[in-house]
Amino acid sequence: MTQPIYMVGARGCGKTTVGQALALTLGYEFTDTDQMLLRATGRSVAQIVESEGWAGFRAKESEMLRAVAGGRKVIATGGGIVLAEANRRFMRASGTVIYLHAPAGVLARRLEAFPEEDQRPSLTGRPIAEEIAEVLLAREALYQDAAHHVLDASASPERVVSAILRQLHPCAA
Ligand code: ADP
Ligand code: MG
Repeated sequence: MTQPIYMVGARGCGKTTVGQALALTLGYEFTDTDQMLLRATGRSVAQIVESEGWAGFRAKESEMLRAVAGGRKVIATGGGIVLAEANRRFMRASGTVIYLHAPAGVLARRLEAFPEEDQRPSLTGRPIAEEIAEVLLAREALYQDAAHHVLDASASPERVVSAILRQLHPCAA
């Protein structure tokens, strides 16, 4: 397979953690759209949102998605990348899209345990569990729409990687 693998899902579902492990296993390069934005602009997601608003950030993120796409890469995307239909279509057409699905409670516990790893500003300013449940409800159908494969992301990273490999190469499993 020479097309990229896109990891989609809400904040904390493991796009970076599982994506890096998957890339290592496959011998693929790993890229993270947030990291690439930071490298290209010298600014974090929070800083871009502060100066240009969420719309400005989303436009830059969409450009970055197209810039990094292609080749033997695992690409971890931002949680809101699926909001644009053009992004959902682009990912589906140019690679394999994996949705890491986890219940809001699991995501909230992870983000509360390691808040410093998540640089994204709050979308609503409300408690994290409440905000996650609401965001998931609004985006679930979009993640499903973008995805070729939906995985249970509440298992350990090793188990999630194994499950992805079984989906990608059903004959070899
Ligand atoms: P994302 O990139 O989707 O926002 P991360 O990979 O940064 O998510 O993971 C968020 C936090 O959850 C990190 O602290 C990470 O160690 C932890 N984590 C990720 N995946 C798992 C998993 N499958 N099981 C347990 N903890 C996980
Ligand atoms: Mg990440």
